[in-house]
Amino acid sequence: MTPTATLTPRGVERTKIGHPWIYRSDVTSVRANAGDVVQVMGPRGRFFGMAFFSDRSQIALRFLTRDQQTVDEAFWRARLARAFAYRESLAIDASAYRVVHGEADLLPSLIVDRYDNYLVLQTLSQGTDRLRDVYARALGDLLSPAGILARNDAKVRTLEGLEMRTETLLGAVPDHVEVREGRIVYHVNLHTGQKTGLFLDQRENREAAARYAHGRLLDCFSYHGGFALALAARCHEVTAIEASEDAAERIRANAARNGLTHVTVRTANVFDELREFDRADERFDTIVLDPPAFAKNRAALPKALAGYKEINLRALRLLSPGGILVTCTCSHHVDEYTFADVLTSAALDAGAQVTIVEKRVQGRDHPVLLGVPETQYLKCFILRKL
Ligand code: SAH
Repeated sequence: MTPTATLTPRGVERTKIGHPWIYRSDVTSVRANAGDVVQVMGPRGRFFGMAFFSDRSQIALRFLTRDQQTVDEAFWRARLARAFAYRESLAIDASAYRVVHGEADLLPSLIVDRYDNYLVLQTLSQGTDRLRDVYARALGDLLSPAGILARNDAKVRTLEGLEMRTETLLGAVPDHVEVREGRIVYHVNLHTGQKTGLFLDQRENREAAARYAHGRLLDCFSYHGGFALALAARCHEVTAIEASEDAAERIRANAARNGLTHVTVRTANVFDELREFDRADERFDTIVLDPPAFAKNRAALPKALAGYKEINLRALRLLSPGGILVTCTCSHHVDEYTFADVLTSAALDAGAQVTIVEKRVQGRDHPVLLGVPETQYLKCFILRKL
């Protein structure tokens, strides 16, 4: 018998707003096993679509289609092919980019990133986890990679009762892979790097920032030097600050690999360094703030906002007139308007008049699904101090 999940009347209401998730409390009865693709029915037997079922997560159902469709290998292959075709249409000037961005590609809880000839995949729910070999096979045929790595060491998997582990699904994936982003080449470790190796979602923001960068650059929360290196050609002096010694070492190596001799790396805490620069009356012409998500949940929000305000306030004080601040937040819980409020209050306290040059989100290979705010996690403002 086809596995089935039945919605409560409130669950039925939720299907009308088009959101692909249904919470546990909106499901009454389930005849299915963990990770099954289920038929979603209303309380009076009406068909609402096909979805992944999770027996552990608060997100009990993730819609795959609203149509009476067979969800088989051909279904997955078609979805993956469409996701890839869209990336090809973007003519991305980089050998590393996102091929599948979960819900926004109608492939909920599946992430696929391309690093040159290798793919890194994350299956973040019971449904996609069970299908990893199907995806690996389909992606192997579609992109002919030399190797596919499953970086399933993401913590969200524990919400699904899935273990955290990294495994090779196809071919072999070396420790280090060289990728190119515009004119810059990076060495990445796909097995241990943050996220799937690099912060691919900032690629277009780095390109945008490079249009305005000038003079003396300070790149805060630099990781592998993404912004520092992308902006270096436009700046006469570059300082990158990164807390992790490993990451800092990689910025140095990546700078050398690209022949950029004017990049200095400080292994330090950005909060301390900004305070120090302020005390020493230092000035910069371009500052980038790309911190990790300060608000991991709603309860952490007040403290997170105070953190965002502090770094933005200090950065605005350190900027010379005409200077550019590229400032980001990747916290789901901090929406664009809340972030704009924080920036306004930072500018007021810094005594700075500021204009918005650009308001941006994550790159187009990480699409935002309209009506699903969870998919718009990255906000990036490019500001100019008058
Ligand atoms: N800007 C990077 C991505 C940054 S991710 C890019 O474009 O690729 C955030 C980075 O901030 C991580 O590398 C993390 O190690 C570092 N970090 C976190 N807290 C920090 C702190 N207080 N001071 C300095 N670096 C910090």
